[in-house]
Amino acid sequence: MRALSVIKSKILIEENIISKCGKLILNSVNPCKTLIVSDRNVAKIYLNIVSRELERLGFQVQAFLINPGEQSKSFEVAEKIYNVLTLNFMSRCDLIISLGGGVVTDLSGFVASTYHRGMKLVHIPTSFLAMIDAAIGGKNGVNSNYGKNLIGTFYHPSLILIDPLALKTLPSRELCCGIAEAIKCGCIWDKELFKILENQNFYNNINEIIIRSIKVKKELAEIDEQDFGSRMLLNFGHTIGHALEKIGCYKKISHGEAVSIGMNEITRISESMNLTRFEVPQRLKTVCKKYFLPTNNNFSRSQLQKAVLHDKKILNGYLNLVLIKDIGKSFIYKISDKEFINFLKNEI
Ligand code: ADP
Ligand code: ZN
Repeated sequence: MRALSVIKSKILIEENIISKCGKLILNSVNPCKTLIVSDRNVAKIYLNIVSRELERLGFQVQAFLINPGEQSKSFEVAEKIYNVLTLNFMSRCDLIISLGGGVVTDLSGFVASTYHRGMKLVHIPTSFLAMIDAAIGGKNGVNSNYGKNLIGTFYHPSLILIDPLALKTLPSRELCCGIAEAIKCGCIWDKELFKILENQNFYNNINEIIIRSIKVKKELAEIDEQDFGSRMLLNFGHTIGHALEKIGCYKKISHGEAVSIGMNEITRISESMNLTRFEVPQRLKTVCKKYFLPTNNNFSRSQLQKAVLHDKKILNGYLNLVLIKDIGKSFIYKISDKEFINFLKNEI
C-alpha cells in the first residue's frame, strides 16, 4: 500500500482497497452514523461492498444516490442531502463518505463542510479525474445558474482511499478525460510523469501515474493553500478550456476534452511567440492523441475571445495565463484583456 498526505488528508492507494475500506476508515473515524453519497452507476457496482464493510464494524450506514452527471452538482441536490442528515439527527461528529467521480466528490465535500459547520469526511474516488484531481486539495463546490463551481469551500477530508482497480469499470471516454489532467500535471511540474504517459503503457504504470499526479497537486497546493500563487499553475489549459465548455454549454465537450484543447491551443500560440521550446507543441499533441483527446477546437476566434474574457479568473482587466517553457516547466504570463486578443490572433 502506498501512503501520502496532502495538507490535512491521508491518502492510501492500493488495488482492491475498496473491499477492505472498513478497517482503514475505522483507523481514522470511530463508528458513527454514516451517509454514503454515490451516483446510481457507481452504486450499482461498489455500494454494497462499502456498506457491508462499514456495518460489519459498527457504523450505522445509509446511502443517498444522485443521478449521474454534472446537473446533480446543484443546490437542490445539496439541500436534499442536508434534509436526510437532519432527519437522521446526524451531527458534526458523524460521517459523510463520497463514493464516485468528481461530481459526487465535489457535492459531498461541500455538504460535509457546511452541515453543522463541518462534519467528518472520507472520499473514495472512483473515476480517474476524481482520484488525481477532484478528491485532492480540499476544493469542493456546487454549480449555480451563473456558472460552474461558483459556490464552494476549502475543506479537507480526513482520509482518501484510492483503488486503481475501480478504473476497470470506468467508461474509456471518462478515463481519457481524467488523463488530460495527468498530462497537465506532467506539463507544468513533472517531466518524468509526462514521459511515462508519452512512452509507457498506461495500465502497467497506473499507480505511478496516480501518485505522481497527486504529488504535483500536493506540492503546488501546499506551497499555496489559497489559490493565488503557485496553485494557479494547475490552471494550465483551463482558461481556454473553461471558455470552450461554456460555449458548448457544458454538453458538447467534457472538461478533460476542453482542457486538452486548451493546453494545445495555448502552447501552439506561446511557441509561435518564442515563449515555449519549439518541440513542445508536437509532443503535447502526440500524447493527447494517444489517449484519444481532441487538440483543436471548432469554435470561432471571436466566440472564444468573448468567452475567455468573461471568465471569472480575470482580475482588474488582467488575465493570468499559464504557459509552459518546456515540459515540466511552467510560468505565469500576466496579460491585459486587450493584449490577450492579440495573443489569440498569433495562432497560425
Ligand atoms: P468526473 O469524475 O469526470 O468529474 P463524474 O462524477 O460525472 O465526472 O463521473 C463520470 C461518469 O463516470 C459518471 O457517469 C459516473 O457514474 C461514472 N463512474 C465514475 N466512476 C466509475 C467507475 N469506477 N465505474 C463505472 N462508472 C464510473
Ligand atoms: Zn480541470
